[in-house]
Amino acid sequence: LCVASQDFDFFYFVQQWPASYCDTRRSCCYPTTGKPDEDFSIHGLWPNYENGKWPQNCDKESSLDESEISDLISTMEKNWPSLACPSSDGVRFWSHEWLKHGTCSALSQRAYFQTALDFKTKSNLLKNLNNAGIVPRNGEHYSVESIKKAIEEGVGHTPYIECNVDPQGNHQLYQVYLCVDSSASNFIDCPVFPHGRKCGSKIEFPPFSSTDHDEF
Ligand code: 5GP
Ligand code: 5GP
Ligand code: 5GP
Repeated sequence: LCVASQDFDFFYFVQQWPASYCDTRRSCCYPTTGKPDEDFSIHGLWPNYENGKWPQNCDKESSLDESEISDLISTMEKNWPSLACPSSDGVRFWSHEWLKHGTCSALSQRAYFQTALDFKTKSNLLKNLNNAGIVPRNGEHYSVESIKKAIEEGVGHTPYIECNVDPQGNHQLYQVYLCVDSSASNFIDCPVFPHGRKCGSKIEFPPFSSTDHDEF
């Protein structure tokens, strides 16, 4: 029996709220594959240490081999779009996540992407928030505590909530961090929370607006 040694303690599984990525002074660009669904999307699955540090770029020779994940591409276009400018089909973003984080995961490329997709389905963030009456709406403010509680009720573990700031200076729900054990099997309680951007106690959860993206 051979078990690959994992030089890390757990993963952060990070999902973003696309409308908040777009609703900043920097704006965004919709993917070439179409405007994203109004749903959370995957940012990445990030190996981490319990002391808060993390390994990255663990194999500088590696590169994304699209032929290994060809059957996952359409699911990734839907669940893991890139909103960076200029518009892209996602391959650059997936390649970046694989090289920076995936190469430290002890997972194969296929397993890395498939596992992240599975954890998105399992976390069911939008449904868990909707169940608590938390829906994307302009001008509505939700407490960070109520958002954390709604996700905790669905997932069984408390998330970390990261906010960003819209052009008017309002804090809004930007990313949700859940923790996953180092074998990438189950959600776990986070051994340590990231030192991300704070939220303030009440935050917005915006829908996509028609003016928050660039036309290219
Ligand atoms: P940001 O500046 O957006 O907080 O982070 C930039 C990038 O650094 C992230 O996209 C991610 O690649 C990496 N990063 C930031 N914080 C963490 C963390 O706590 N753990 C890991 N593994 N990566 C992080
Ligand atoms: P990190 O290094 O923070 O894991 O990944 C963020 C990198 O991916 C940055 O270079 C960022 O510009 C790029 N990126 C491309 N598309 C997206 C996206 O939709 N969301 C985020 N957060 N970063 C993206
Ligand atoms: P505390 O130090 O009491 O945990 O939190 C300090 C600040 O962080 C408060 O403004 C609180 O609303 C906010 N906060 C609490 N939980 C989270 C979280 O999961 N993510 C972020 N970004 N802020 C949080």
